[in-house]
Amino acid sequence: MIMSYELIDPPADGSRVTVAGDGSLEVPSDPIIPIIHGDGIGEDVGPAAQTILQAAAQATGREINWFRVYAGEAAQERYGEDVHLPEDTLRAIDEYRIAIKGPLTTPVGSGFRSLNVALRQHFDLFANVRPTYHLEGTPSPVKAPELLDIVTFRENTEDVYAGIEWEAGTQEVEQVRAFVEDEMGATGIIHDGPVGIGIKPITEKGTKRLVREAIDYALENDREKVTLVHKGNIMKFTEGQFSEWGMEVAQEEYPDEEVFAAPNSLWEAEGEIDVPEGAVMVDERIADAMLQWLLLRPDEFDVLAMPNLNGDYLSDAAGAQMGSLGLPPGANFGEGRCLAEPVHGSAPKRAGQDMANPCAITLSGALMFEYMGWYDAAALVKDAIEAAIGAGRVTYDLHRNIEGAERVGTTTFTDEVVGHIEQLAANQ
Ligand code: NAD
Repeated sequence: MIMSYELIDPPADGSRVTVAGDGSLEVPSDPIIPIIHGDGIGEDVGPAAQTILQAAAQATGREINWFRVYAGEAAQERYGEDVHLPEDTLRAIDEYRIAIKGPLTTPVGSGFRSLNVALRQHFDLFANVRPTYHLEGTPSPVKAPELLDIVTFRENTEDVYAGIEWEAGTQEVEQVRAFVEDEMGATGIIHDGPVGIGIKPITEKGTKRLVREAIDYALENDREKVTLVHKGNIMKFTEGQFSEWGMEVAQEEYPDEEVFAAPNSLWEAEGEIDVPEGAVMVDERIADAMLQWLLLRPDEFDVLAMPNLNGDYLSDAAGAQMGSLGLPPGANFGEGRCLAEPVHGSAPKRAGQDMANPCAITLSGALMFEYMGWYDAAALVKDAIEAAIGAGRVTYDLHRNIEGAERVGTTTFTDEVVGHIEQLAANQ
């Protein structure tokens, strides 16, 4: 089916990413990839990422055909004051499957909901994925930052993100209280007086597809372990169930020699476990303990799969170890879909000043490349960024924490990364 667009046109050249009958992604060497630059510093770092990612694609014999699409303030300018997320943009991301976006501002107290959440929900992008690792030369707040190399998979559609809650003082909340106390027998628990009540759904479908995605990622990226992080000791029928369903995926959907389920009950029974050589081990940790392990023994973990709220805390805590909000990358995955986006926001104070660090959005693009199977191009992007930071000419956010570094703007830093890509490719 050929899509038609109102105010934008796809590039004249390029091909579509498609999904084969068996669900696998078919990526041409000249894909059309929609890009939303984003609000605020998005207009600085979006074009920078395009330049760097294109250089890595070309250095590995490919060509990206960028398709500029709009959301947030740029959409309002083009489509009208009330249009934040145009149909054109949704259609393009739908048609081309893989896209990248910069940050979008969510005005506090105004009528519209977060565009980021709207995009994730519209495309059912159920896994929020963030790799966190040390880039040599960066100013991490921890003593041994090189021990960190963890990818977090956060469930994106349920748990507290489902947003089912009732406000104190409303008739609805009193109805829910009456139901819980009178019909479900939970008496003497909720204190008298005003109360707010929320519901935390965790489904078999939501859990299993998230854990499956994390295990597949581990298998494809030579990771040794997937850890299910939950609070099942307290919330047995939601968080505990997440762990049980997650273990079922490991046990029932993969052969033991590929994926080995090692729940706590097995450790307790056996004392020690022999994981088949080369298999990905799936184990579990209680969420609060995991926050300690993240600081104390980060090198013992690889991939973490978590319900929404645990994932929120743990992915931010892991990202902070990278040393600047200008660094942590991310992406949202759905069935045959990827929307890459940096962790940071639109930092309006820094916008339009050629100041912002383009690393986070560019490394998000590297994650997108990995999803597309372009591992060589992804490695080139990461190595070139590390080399550019190592050379000590960096953007303001890193400059203030690296002794002896020279401060440069977004465009100069971008040119330097491209220079490293060319050099690295020439030496290969
Ligand atoms: P922010 O991430 O935009 O900025 C916080 C601070 O981090 C900035 O003042 C800046 O000093 C630094 N920073 C962030 N990115 C940087 C970069 N690339 N280079 C250098 N320094 C960088 O967080 P905020 O101020 O809380 O949010 C601003 C807006 O962004 C809000 O409207 C918020 O809703 C939105 N937001 C969007 C996303 C998203 O699009 N996914 C994520 C977070 C926040």
